[in-house]
Amino acid sequence: MAVDKKIQGELEKKLIQEKKDIENELAHFAKPTGIPGDYATKFNDIGTDIDENASEVEEYTDNLALERSLEEHLKKVSYALAKLGAGGYGKCESCGREIEIDRLRAYPAAKRCVKCKQEARGG
Ligand SMILES: [Zn+2]
Repeated sequence: MAVDKKIQGELEKKLIQEKKDIENELAHFAKPTGIPGDYATKFNDIGTDIDENASEVEEYTDNLALERSLEEHLKKVSYALAKLGAGGYGKCESCGREIEIDRLRAYPAAKRCVKCKQEARGG
């Protein structure tokens, strides 16, 4: 059984919202590079004292790590949205079976079913 139209619409809304949230979060400390889904963390110049420089670098490093993980998430969400448009959404990429609705509800960008997810880590 393919994913129900109604449920699919519900999941699409969630994905679009998720995409917006990620983009908003990224906008706080990074700017788009012009490549879709790619952001560059801004270096926040607080001041010129050694202490200030140290916290600038610290903040920048933290933001870089956050940027990377948000970008990664954004990629997965965009990918899921593309599959929703093109068809094939909700199918496990490892075994080809339908992904559990409960899993999709909890994580609409899921690429694998629960079983395959447990066998191979990630996504
Ligand atoms: Zn599977």
